[in-house]
Amino acid sequence: MLDDMLDYMAHIRTRPVWQPIPESVRTSLQEPLPSEATELAAVHQTFMQEILPYAVGNAHPGFMGWVHGGGTPVGMLAEMLAAGLNANLGGRDQMPIELERQVVQWVRELFGFPHTASGLFVNGTSMANFIAVLVARTTALGANVRRAGIAASERRLVAYTSASAHNCIAQAMDLSGLGSNALRIIPVTTQHQMDIDALERAIAADRRAGYTPFFIAGTAGTVDVGAVDDLATLADVAEKNALWFHVDGAYGALAMLAPELAPRLSGIERADSIAFDFHKWGQVPYDAGFILVRDSNAHLSTFASPAAYLGRETRGLAAGSPWPCDFGPDLSRGFRALKAWFTIKVYGTEKLGQVIAHTCALAQYMRQCIDNETALELLSPVSLNVVCFRYRCEDAECVNRDIVTAIHESGIAAPSTTTINGQLAIRAAIVNHRTTRQDIDALLRATLEFGQAISSPPLRRTSL
Ligand SMILES: *Cc1c(COP(=O)(O)O)cnc(C)c1O
Repeated sequence: MLDDMLDYMAHIRTRPVWQPIPESVRTSLQEPLPSEATELAAVHQTFMQEILPYAVGNAHPGFMGWVHGGGTPVGMLAEMLAAGLNANLGGRDQMPIELERQVVQWVRELFGFPHTASGLFVNGTSMANFIAVLVARTTALGANVRRAGIAASERRLVAYTSASAHNCIAQAMDLSGLGSNALRIIPVTTQHQMDIDALERAIAADRRAGYTPFFIAGTAGTVDVGAVDDLATLADVAEKNALWFHVDGAYGALAMLAPELAPRLSGIERADSIAFDFHKWGQVPYDAGFILVRDSNAHLSTFASPAAYLGRETRGLAAGSPWPCDFGPDLSRGFRALKAWFTIKVYGTEKLGQVIAHTCALAQYMRQCIDNETALELLSPVSLNVVCFRYRCEDAECVNRDIVTAIHESGIAAPSTTTINGQLAIRAAIVNHRTTRQDIDALLRATLEFGQAISSPPLRRTSL
C-alpha cells in the first residue's frame, strides 16, 4: 500500500487530472452490509481499481480548481503514524497535545500574536470561522449567553464582511443563531477589497438604527480572485468602533511564510482571531484547519464547561488542563497537528514560503500569456495566485462553461469557474507545489483548442 501511494505521487503527471466515473465503477461498491471477512489484499485491490483513479485529482499539478492543496509524501507518512498511534487529542496528559501546543506557538510566532493567544486545529476554515463568530458573540454578550441564549439579550448583534467573502461567514452567522441577515455584505472596490468607506457608513447606520455592531471579517485571499482586504485599515476601523476583528485567511494567511508576500498582509497581526487552513497553501494533507484567538480567556469562556467525567487533576493522566476540548465543540479529535508539524519540520518555513511565492509567480506568468493571446481576456487583477479569464467569443457564458467541462473531461487540467462582474470566468487557482509553467501552458492550450471547437459554427451545439 505504501509503495502504491508513493508511486501514485511520483507518477501523478502520467495520469489524467480527473476522469469521469464510469457507471459500472460508480455502482461497484454497492453491496449489502458484509457479515463475512474479505482478504485485506482484495480490499486494497478494490481501492486501487475503483477509488484511486476516480478521485478529484488535487494532488495532480494540472489541478487548479477551487482552492485545493496538493499534499506531500511527508504529510502522508505522518498521517500513517497518527493513525497507528490512534491518539485522541480531546484532552489528558500526553505528548501529542504538547506537539499541538508547539504548532500553536509557531502559529502565534508567524502572525506576531502574544504568547497568551490560544489556537486549535479544526477540520477547516469553515469551522474556524464559526468558532470565531461564537467567541466574538460570547465576548459581546457575556458568557451568560451560553445559558440564556441570544433571544434573552436586548442587543441585536450585526457583523460585517465583504461581497467577496466566503459563504461560510454567512453560514457561521446562521449556525450561531444570530442569523445570516445580521451579516452586512459590504461592496468591494475594483481591486475586490472591502470598501472601507461603505463599511464605516454601514456601521454608523446600524448604530443609528439601534443595532449593536460586534464583528468584522476581513479576507486575506478571497476565494474568487485572491484579493487581500486592507487589513491594517480594517483593524483601525474595528479598534475605533470596539468591534472584534477577524481575518478569514483560509488559504492566504500562510503568505506570511513568504517574505516577499508577507507585507501584503500587514495588519493581520492586529486581528482578534485568524482562521486558516494548513491543507491549502501549506500542502498538508486534508484536513487541517486552524483557529487562532488573541484572547485565550475569551476563547475558553466560549467553550469550556464542567463535566463530571472530564474532571481535571494536577497529576496523572487527567492533568494538563486546559485541554483542546475547552477551545472548541469537538471532544474526540484526531492528531491533525502531527502532519502539520512534520511538514514544517521536514521542509522548513523557508521552503514552504518559496512554494507559496512560486505559485504567485506562476499566476503572473499565466497573466502575461493571457495578455499576449488575443483570443483570451483577463477578467480580474491577479493579486496572488488566482487567475480569472475567458475565451473571447459570442455567447461567452455558455462557451466558457463548456470549455471548462471539456477540459475536465479531457483530463488535461482542472480549472473551475466563477462570476466576475456578471461574467462567467474560467478560474485557475495555483496552489499545488507540483504545478509548473508546463501545466499553465497545457491549460491555456486546451482552452484555446476547446474554445475554437465549441464556438465555431459546425460544432456549435443546437442547445446553445
Ligand atoms: C477554502 C476557503 C474557506 C473554507 O475553508 P474550508 O477549509 O474548506 O472549510 C473559507 N474562506 C476562504 C477564503 C477559502 O478560500
